[in-house]
Amino acid sequence: MSSHTYDYLDGNAAAGELSKILAVDVTAAEGQCANCGATKRFAEAHVYMKGPGVVARCAVCEHVLLRLVNVRQRVFLDVRGMTYLSLDTSQFQESSG
Ligand SMILES: [Zn+2]
Repeated sequence: MSSHTYDYLDGNAAAGELSKILAVDVTAAEGQCANCGATKRFAEAHVYMKGPGVVARCAVCEHVLLRLVNVRQRVFLDVRGMTYLSLDTSQFQESSG
């Protein structure tokens, strides 16, 4: 029997915070881990929200991919843990008014 208790959420949990500063849905994005080179959808990342901000870790090696910290009126986004983040631009559809 497995009695593992994981205290992380998936990437969807971070979408709310990230949607405040990014115009795209990052859960559909793909990022490459700068540590192990794994390329995965952000939605698969392990997200920890117990600290002062949001931390997303690689689902393979637990390397920190992204950190988001709110300090007063400023948001600090640390993405150095990712080699790249590729985003689906098909969602940038002009809403004709
Ligand atoms: Zn990794």
